Amino acid sequence: MAGSERDRRAQRRARQEQRERSRAWARGERPSGPARPARPGPGPVREVSVAPAEGDFPPEELRVPSRDEVDGLLMRYAGPLVLDGAVRACRDCGGYRDWLVLLRQDNVWLRCPAGHASFEPALDAVWFNRNSGPVDGRHPTLEAGIEHLGG
Ligand SMILES: [Zn+2]
Repeated sequence: MAGSERDRRAQRRARQEQRERSRAWARGERPSGPARPARPGPGPVREVSVAPAEGDFPPEELRVPSRDEVDGLLMRYAGPLVLDGAVRACRDCGGYRDWLVLLRQDNVWLRCPAGHASFEPALDAVWFNRNSGPVDGRHPTLEAGIEHLGG
């Protein structure tokens, strides 16, 4: 194909030029030409205060609190919880589905549909964060949160 012939010729020419440059370099010649301009050093640093402009943030009622601003996080966990290879069941009633999971200070608590709550040492904040979705609401009390989740 004519195109590939042209490519080959261009490659040969490029290799030839490269060889000539290498030989010239070996002879101690250096390419002449304009010297590179000195790179400008860092200029003086100025402090700029950037105040958040009106409208940078959504209105207060639409803001979701960050995880540091709440006492705890609550989510529903519908399926059976398998911990260390065993399905976790409520010690009091044997329920094993529809958990409410509470994260409080890196401790995870489980609450069965009947309202029995227990500390779950096998779970932690990392597990909670991996299994929970984004925060979608804020409640003044734990009870209000439980009620909101239908617990
Ligand atoms: Zn129970």
